Amino acid sequence: MNVMLGIDIGTTSTKGLLCRTNGQIVAQFNHSYPLQQTVAGTAEENPQAILMAVTSGLQAILRTVHQQQLTLAGLSFSSANQSLIALDNLHRPLTNLLTWVDTRAAPAAAKLKKSDFADELYQRTGTPLHPMSLLAKLIWLKASQPKIFKQATYFCGIKEYILWKLFGKWQMDISIASGTGLFNWQQQNWDPEILAIAGIQESQLPPIVDSYTTFSKMRPDLAAKLNWPQATPIVQGAFDGALANLGVNALDSKTAALSIGTSAAIRLLSKQPALDPQGRLFCYAVSQQQWVIGGPVNNGGIVLRWALEKLFTNEKIIWEKAGADSYEQLLQIIQTIPAGANGLLFFPFLNGERAPLWDADIRASFIGLTQTHSRAEMARAAVEGIIFNLRSVWEIFSNHTFSQPKQLVLSGGFAKSPFLRQLIADIFNCPVQVPAQIEASCLGAILLGMDALGLTDNLAQSAAALSGTVTTYQPNPAAAKSYNELFTIYQRLQDHLGHETTALTAWQRKFN
Ligand code: ADP
Repeated sequence: MNVMLGIDIGTTSTKGLLCRTNGQIVAQFNHSYPLQQTVAGTAEENPQAILMAVTSGLQAILRTVHQQQLTLAGLSFSSANQSLIALDNLHRPLTNLLTWVDTRAAPAAAKLKKSDFADELYQRTGTPLHPMSLLAKLIWLKASQPKIFKQATYFCGIKEYILWKLFGKWQMDISIASGTGLFNWQQQNWDPEILAIAGIQESQLPPIVDSYTTFSKMRPDLAAKLNWPQATPIVQGAFDGALANLGVNALDSKTAALSIGTSAAIRLLSKQPALDPQGRLFCYAVSQQQWVIGGPVNNGGIVLRWALEKLFTNEKIIWEKAGADSYEQLLQIIQTIPAGANGLLFFPFLNGERAPLWDADIRASFIGLTQTHSRAEMARAAVEGIIFNLRSVWEIFSNHTFSQPKQLVLSGGFAKSPFLRQLIADIFNCPVQVPAQIEASCLGAILLGMDALGLTDNLAQSAAALSGTVTTYQPNPAAAKSYNELFTIYQRLQDHLGHETTALTAWQRKFN
């Protein structure tokens, strides 16, 4: 029996999914590693720990393949994008992996944003100016660690490092390249002028290949150790966000993928690249033939976690001692509060914000607070605020000709809760679909791999089979009407507040 393996190298863990081509899961793994956030703004990982997570996952999967006498039809890779490692002339790491979460390049990004060529950079690359881009990270590295920067022969992200270590392949897929801020999407190459701003040469970056590129053969010593079948084709794959759209079967311009995990994003696939005149959406490649346009949001489920930890600290301890899911317990309390939290609004920018505002220094606020508002109402406002902010991103999509989004497919931790699924349908005033399998990026890697290897005639049919039974939540007309009213107020207040809280952020910095 043919099986396909998808591996997703994520920010806090590497996940693997071994599936039959009809969607049946045969085996899976989830190996985590620590995100090192010791100094403010730092978010690093040890590349060796990630390599270990991938190889031990592969080893476990191969045991199943051999025990059950399966035929591994292919392996395809997904990974988080916008990560950076400096390497020496033998491709040995000189730094930890700087993940997309790392914000130390914020001043470099802010400087670029204020420069005369800010708009030109977005137009050429489709990457909004933000500390996560490799352009900003390289400028930061050069200024803060000049010795290492000078010593570095190569620079790459985590997927390129892993592919080099496992297969000896030194290449970056167009999908990961397109999120670096260094890739010119029109000329489909590393942009020489932008590389000069970053202070590096083209020869320091991996050559760019299509996401559908296939190759084979693991490094012989490792292949022998893992018992890896050397004839197995390997597919380069793409970045996790692009693949998540494939994995939840959001394949056309009418169906947007909404993922709400720790962070959140709305993404739409498109046959053509498309830019937002105000630079609020990214436009990255999935492959040479397909693009993904998206609004990434910092303040997703992490805001619900904040409400749980800070507003319900004691209850959380009690719930967890009793073995209950503390998120479910809190959501039960939140459900008892009427829609609109009795007129309390929360602007959820606890962690600065990417889309729609692209301001790393913006901060959160409650507005409309009265003497009678309780912790439960504050928690409800926090959850509604996460979704109002995402609706603001959705409105940007709705105003563009490249997209006519009519429905959303939801994935991520938020999708576990039927209450939240309905709340999203009500606030967006739009049907929300939830597939049975929410390990979207792994599934997307499998689907892209099947397409690349000719294992599917119909990608949509395969995506439907792999993502499983879909449950649809229709908006409740009365709730949708009242949320529409509140959203108008939310937007007016947001327009008024603008970026005013950034002065307060500068003041906060004096204390930490
Ligand atoms: P990651 O992005 O790290 O993969 P997940 O997709 O697992 O994260 O989502 C984590 C978030 O999901 C949490 O921060 C929380 O807000 C939310 N969450 C966790 N458990 C539940 C639950 N039972 N119901 C609803 N939301 C949940």
